Parts: sequence; structure tokens; C-alpha cells
Amino acid sequence: MQDNLKEKFNETFKDIPKRKLKAYLIVDKYYSNESQEIVFAETAGLAKAKGLASGNFDDYSFTELRAERQKCFDKYSEKQLIPIKELLERGWWFYCAGCGSVQINEDDIEDGNAFIGSYEDEYHDFVKGTVICDACASKNPELLEVENAR
Ligand SMILES: [Zn+2]
Repeated sequence: MQDNLKEKFNETFKDIPKRKLKAYLIVDKYYSNESQEIVFAETAGLAKAKGLASGNFDDYSFTELRAERQKCFDKYSEKQLIPIKELLERGWWFYCAGCGSVQINEDDIEDGNAFIGSYEDEYHDFVKGTVICDACASKNPELLEVENAR
């Protein structure tokens, strides 16, 4: 947009409050993809577009995706990051951030077979933190650093 147009646009719409972002779960309508995403968007259509752009639904078309409201995550709409602990408590599981092959759920954490780390999840940019399996944690203790960078 040209600068003068941009100014005019901003001036015209300055008094219109920004619509609040809402949390949506993006899944494929066949529930066949193991990847699910939470995205924050103003509408279900925009949420699906974001889901499609995430790279986790490359084999799907827009009409094959569903956006399901997740009011429980609306409180994270500002930073658009959900603590991994909360996702685990809600039944999500993730691959180990070290080896990428071990699936980790809340029970694994509770049983001490896996740990929560602070590294960013490479595959899900809505997640704050990572999970690390026991074997990777003993090999790479730095994966368990608790300080959060963001
Ligand atoms: Zn591992």
C-alpha cells in the first residue's frame, strides 16, 4: 500500500476497535491427520487459512479443514502461545523435542518418564515449551532448562 493510502486507511479506521482474536482447533474433517493446530483468528474462515499456512496440513485443501472453537484457550490470544502443560492436561500429546520419535502425554510426565522443557516447539508455534523423553533428557540436560526465553 502506498504511504498516503496507508495513512488514510489508518485515519479512517482508527476508532474501530480491533476485533478480539479467538482460539480455534484446526483439524482435517476426516480426523485422519495426526497433526492438530490451535490458531488464533477473528473468524473460522481465517483460522482455516492460518491452519493451511502452518505447514501441518499440506495434503489438504481449504474445504477439507475444520475450525472448531476452543474458548478455553481464548485467554492466550494476546501472545498466541499456550503452555504445553495445559495442553497435556487437556489430553494432547507431543513428540519428544530431542529424538522426535517418542510420543509423550501427561501420564508420561506424571510417571517421571518424560519432562517439560522450555525450548520452542519447532512444529507447533502455538505451543510454549516442549516435552523431552527420559533418554533424551539424560543425554541432553540442557533441554530441561526451565527459564523461558519468551
Ligand atoms: Zn527423546
